[in-house]
Amino acid sequence: MDLDRTSRISADLHFGTLSVRDAFQAAERKLQRSHPDALTRFHTELLWREFAQHWLIERPALLRETFRPSFSGFPWQEDEHGWAAWTQGKTGFPVVDAAARELLATGFVHNRARMISVSFLTKHLLIHYARGEAHYAKWLVDADLASNNMGWQWSAGTGCDAQPYFRVFNPITQGERFDPEGDYVRRYVPELRALPTKYIHAPWRASAAVLRAARVTLGETYPHPIVDHADARTRYLLVAQTHLSEAKT
Ligand SMILES: Cc1cc2nc3c(=O)[nH]c(=O)nc-3n(C[C@H](O)[C@H](O)[C@H](O)COP(=O)(O)OP(=O)(O)OC[C@H]3O[C@@H](n4cnc5c(N)ncnc54)[C@H](O)[C@@H]3O)c2cc1C
Repeated sequence: MDLDRTSRISADLHFGTLSVRDAFQAAERKLQRSHPDALTRFHTELLWREFAQHWLIERPALLRETFRPSFSGFPWQEDEHGWAAWTQGKTGFPVVDAAARELLATGFVHNRARMISVSFLTKHLLIHYARGEAHYAKWLVDADLASNNMGWQWSAGTGCDAQPYFRVFNPITQGERFDPEGDYVRRYVPELRALPTKYIHAPWRASAAVLRAARVTLGETYPHPIVDHADARTRYLLVAQTHLSEAKT
């Protein structure tokens, strides 16, 4: 998430200012010999887009219903406090907050950050994925009915070829893996900029002296985490397992 390593062509593809065939072939010309693995990865990304378009043409009702019927009637929760924190980038989980603020500041969010954000909203907070999907549709410059719906349903566990519902992203370890130096967080959550990298994805683990030296006061300059990761994970799994076993009977 901290590196500028993707093509950033999604808005052009969406609006048709770049043809997907041109992108496919240009990449082939440029990368086939020198970077065949990168070419395969890029082509695979373009195919995800085609896959999303295919499914929406096949099943337009996906804009209103879950791909997996077993998730129909899932007991999503009303949580206005959680919703406000998530949309404003004030959940107290730095990588989730960086993604929310990147969206509002630039109209773009890195794919990994999108997945972490969805997981947090739908699993840690149990808020309906469609609400998050509409928020993304409002703010993303590449907002696309098919890709956005597929991305939300995939990450929420309700979609086609979904990640299994029981996989709940840990926003701390995801941050450590995909933003190892904390550069992404520091760019969008500047109040944490002076924290040592060791604590950048979990400021509450820092000692009072470390927080003071970084001019961070939890609850004032930056929020306490709005949920406990382990508790939220357990709550989601219980709700999901109960719902899915009732849906079977
Ligand atoms: C919750 C969520 C919502 C998303 N909403 C959108 C959206 O509204 N519009 C959109 O274009 N993409 C969406 N995506 C897919 C992906 O995040 C973006 O296409 C990608 O981040 C755009 O950056 P890029 O152009 O640098 O991508 P690159 O990695 O360079 O990929 C090249 C192109 O392949 C396509 N692509 C790559 N990954 C995906 C994917 N997972 N699904 C569909 N197409 C893909 C895009 O057209 C992209 O421009 C969403 C993903 C998630 C998880």
